[in-house]
Amino acid sequence: MSAGVPIWRCAGCGVAYFPEPLLCPRCHGGKFESGRVHEALIEEVSVIRHMIGQENWQPRRIASVLATGGPRMTVGLRDESGPGATIELFEEGTAPFGRAKSSA
Ligand SMILES: [Zn+2]
Repeated sequence: MSAGVPIWRCAGCGVAYFPEPLLCPRCHGGKFESGRVHEALIEEVSVIRHMIGQENWQPRRIASVLATGGPRMTVGLRDESGPGATIELFEEGTAPFGRAKSSA
């Protein structure tokens, strides 16, 4: 597990993306600078209750989030955080996840 989630920021217009696009949809540039985002605001939460072909599937929560200074992305949620909550982002393998910020 590693902290934060990678983003790619267009060298031409500065818009951040996740995952990395081939070309920037905004300015059609093809150069990106990689960075990481560590926090995001939850906009929407949904629950995946079934998955075709998967027995023993446990309901999973996924969230549409707006990363701080970065793009909108979909992450797996590891707790009961809801819309409006700020979460910390982390990666497991190459999949992005979020959970409530550890109290600081
Ligand atoms: Zn661009």
